[in-house]
Amino acid sequence: MKCRTEDDERKVSTCVECGDEIRYGRQDKKFCSCECKNRYNNRKVRNSRLTKLRVINSLERNHGILEQMLRLGVDSMDLASLKNLGFDIDYVTSYRKVRRHDEYCCFDIRFILTPTRICSVSRLRVSLADDESEKKSVHSHPEMKK
Ligand SMILES: [Zn+2]
Repeated sequence: MKCRTEDDERKVSTCVECGDEIRYGRQDKKFCSCECKNRYNNRKVRNSRLTKLRVINSLERNHGILEQMLRLGVDSMDLASLKNLGFDIDYVTSYRKVRRHDEYCCFDIRFILTPTRICSVSRLRVSLADDESEKKSVHSHPEMKK
């Protein structure tokens, strides 16, 4: 949407959103209008949401595959087969080194990653005592309270 007048020809920058010229001297030089600024920011928020959704979807796909392995009593699988199933090793929820093993979790399922396969797939045991320690930690950080 170009609406240029002859006077604006000299010193102009362009709107990040629509590419229209922004008249020299405006305080906000990134956008030609509030509409463009809002549109740009809304898209940024939307992109961030989409990125999060994509990550969550990948985690859920991985978790579903691990879940199925547990159901079938398979505790080890090579990475090529996993990849064929849609498993993406980049999406896990935690990592730690256990002795010389690389242990990963995808939510409540844990496994060990070797250069060629995952093994020792098992479900984490969540103890009820964890609830108590959470309460304590909230209590010790009063600023975290709602
Ligand atoms: Zn614009």
